[in-house]
Amino acid sequence: METMNPWEAALEFLDEAAELISLDPGIHAILRKPKRSLEVAVPVKMDSGEITVFSGYRVHHDVTRGPAKGGIRYHPHVSLDETKALAMWMTWKCAVVNIPYGGAKGGVIVDPKQLSTRELERMTRRYASEILPLIGPEKDIPAPDVNTDEQVMAWIMDTYSMNIGYSVPGVVTGKPRSIGGSHGRGGATSRGVMYQVLSALKTRGLGVDEISVSVQGFGKVGSGAARMLHDEGCRIQAVSDVMGGIYNERGLDPEAVEVHKREAGTVAGFAGGDPITNEELMELEVDVLVPAALEGVINESNADQINARIIVEGANGPTTPKADRMLNERDVFIVPDILANAGGVTVSYFEWVQDIQAYFWTGDEVNQKLRQIMEGSFLDVFGLSQTKGWTMRQAATALAVERVAEAQRVRGLYP
Ligand code: NAD
Repeated sequence: METMNPWEAALEFLDEAAELISLDPGIHAILRKPKRSLEVAVPVKMDSGEITVFSGYRVHHDVTRGPAKGGIRYHPHVSLDETKALAMWMTWKCAVVNIPYGGAKGGVIVDPKQLSTRELERMTRRYASEILPLIGPEKDIPAPDVNTDEQVMAWIMDTYSMNIGYSVPGVVTGKPRSIGGSHGRGGATSRGVMYQVLSALKTRGLGVDEISVSVQGFGKVGSGAARMLHDEGCRIQAVSDVMGGIYNERGLDPEAVEVHKREAGTVAGFAGGDPITNEELMELEVDVLVPAALEGVINESNADQINARIIVEGANGPTTPKADRMLNERDVFIVPDILANAGGVTVSYFEWVQDIQAYFWTGDEVNQKLRQIMEGSFLDVFGLSQTKGWTMRQAATALAVERVAEAQRVRGLYP
């Protein structure tokens, strides 16, 4: 059985792309290592009065094309290797949609559901203080990821601003609109996933109203993608979260599922569908599968059982390199994570631009610019894959690595 280390998976995808584009060995060696990794201790006084010390990370993979950009994850399985992999994927993601950022990621090893709101705030503020030397609107701009949200971003923005002595909205993105957030950031990753599904369907000659979709992970990305695809006319046959899943052959109403989830804390038990396990969901005979939970869920052990014709990776790193090869052999069309979920970082970029200019756009402007970038990037990657005979992942990674390498070449190596 393949052991799933996300950093090894990220390196394998980089090495493959490097070979395809005959990347200069020196630049390849630079890109195989993160530029800097910070490990921090995060002591927090719990409500009981006891002190718990959490471990956190912030990694910059590459900043050749601009400031580092990447989310912050709160999860018990956060590790340095996972954070490094996610930071590298951020470098490629920003490059593939051609926005002027490098790649970063951060995380704290914690199950936030076990903390009170006050404990979560204290932990967030202490973590933000510990990574303060790395972050800043011109250096590194965090955003939400798994188990972090607008409120967490607001606390980080406030902590940074209090330390600097004035308000700095551009230090984080994905924050509330009342402090410089952007229209459309909340659903941006999901909207980007939706555009990628529509683009993928076009290449296969399929209409939206004739297709079935299953979505693993009903969080920020998955629930929004399910709702938007449903609004476009797709049949959402199954959705799931960490507690379990639900299935309805005739289609689920994601809005009603959302209402149920708000009350029950999970999609499981929704009256309009039958129970289904996460494993069963992954193997359903649907047109489109959207993994939108965590890494490594499509691996050697289930790749051959996957019956979807198209996979659009809402999550980062959901497919291991071996599973990727197995699916390619069966001609499954995969829109890779670095392209499929780039809508979030694209609108984060718009938010940062608006913060810096202190001039804000309408929701329509944001969505129209997002659509342009997502559809244009899909066509760039699809065109390259067709010309070269590469998979979509190979084409997306090769395009991204080439853009970063070109920036590295013209800047030269310091000193
Ligand atoms: P989230 O915390 O809002 O949601 C995660 C969802 O996954 C939850 O519904 C959770 O119950 C579910 N989940 C967790 N473990 C699971 C398991 N073993 N089986 C099934 N479901 C499981 O997080 P999110 O922000 O929606 O992120 C989801 C994925 O999308 C991550 O890979 C993240 O890195 C990626 N992503 C997020 C953004 C963003 O803007 N939030 C942008 C790009 C990529």
